[in-house]
Amino acid sequence: MSNADEAPSSQTDWKIIARDGLRTAEDLAGHFEVDEKVVDRVREEFPMFVNTYWLSKMKEKGDSFWKQVVPDAAELEDPIGVQDPLDEEGDSPVPNLVHRYPDRVLLLVNHQCPIYCRFCTRKRKVGQPEFFSTALVDQGIEYIRNHSEVRDVIVSGGDPLMLSDRRLEYILKALRSIPHLEIIRIGSKVPCALPQRITPELCAMLRKYHPLYINTHFNHPDEVTPEAKQACGLLADAGIPIGNQAVLLKGINDDPEVMKRLMQRLLAIRVRPYYIYQADIVTGTEHFRTSVQKGLEIISALRGHTSGLAVPHYVIDAPGGGGKIPVLPETVVGMDGDNILLRNYEGKTYAYPNPVEELAVEAAK
Ligand SMILES: *Cc1c(COP(=O)(O)O)cnc(C)c1O
Ligand code: SF4
Repeated sequence: MSNADEAPSSQTDWKIIARDGLRTAEDLAGHFEVDEKVVDRVREEFPMFVNTYWLSKMKEKGDSFWKQVVPDAAELEDPIGVQDPLDEEGDSPVPNLVHRYPDRVLLLVNHQCPIYCRFCTRKRKVGQPEFFSTALVDQGIEYIRNHSEVRDVIVSGGDPLMLSDRRLEYILKALRSIPHLEIIRIGSKVPCALPQRITPELCAMLRKYHPLYINTHFNHPDEVTPEAKQACGLLADAGIPIGNQAVLLKGINDDPEVMKRLMQRLLAIRVRPYYIYQADIVTGTEHFRTSVQKGLEIISALRGHTSGLAVPHYVIDAPGGGGKIPVLPETVVGMDGDNILLRNYEGKTYAYPNPVEELAVEAAK
């Protein structure tokens, strides 16, 4: 990449941004005042990487960009977290493929991410190349080929969009050759954390593999930048529906106004809010967890108060591998004779009459 004669292109731009950045305490200390000993001790356990795009958005120590990527001493003092709280390994018939639900699987294809989020659910694996290989990807694809019940695959990692166009196309092409596989989803932080990687060339490749969906990962309204808007616009123009999966994070977005702004801004860049995740009980992330009541408060502040499109499902991925369970504010508050009593977004109660005929049939039983 250091070849100065290399013609500049959108591709080399993103590769440079993804290559350059902060990896050590010393790198970080060049920009912010930090306890270098602490940072290096933590990053030996859980790798740090901040690419130059994300770095350019970190305006001051402790802001939302900073908190998501800078190692914290609390990561080494987690009283309750476990390595694999969702028991993904227990539901993996072959390594790096999680088959938990009847008709869809999660396929982990690489270790690399555009940044390393300190709260990552897959902290046990991300950034660690020894857990990934092309042979394992092939094995995962073979598993899908041999399981005709699988009609949906979520390609994740790491971050699949950190692969080269060529490598990613190899995977997509192999998946598309499986007749029973109906849809392909890619889980990627890239539109948020390395938007320059969304090039016209990448989009031209991706659109050959429809129906293809992307779920991305924005957590704070400040992440909806002109660069991110450009990236999401290119993907949307390639016919790819984009969803967002945010994580509820203490001190970052555990505030109804912040979440509302995030959801509204996402819609404005053609991204549909899909999930808000309650934080998992992952080793080294306890300091990011909030109460479930906080999540309910946020959902209550969205529903009815703003566009329905801006209201994602709030889910808890059940510890032990129970899967995603939606958590909803209570709206059915009781019965009044044949009427069902419902609470609206303003806290007022309304009655909906059940159909009389159906009630008569029920009574006759
Ligand atoms: C989240 C997840 C899925 C996809 O769930 P949807 O609710 O369909 O988006 C599939 N498999 C695993 C293991 C997951 O964690
Ligand atoms: S980009 Fe996703 S997989 Fe990578 S560290 Fe962040 S949350 Fe984890």
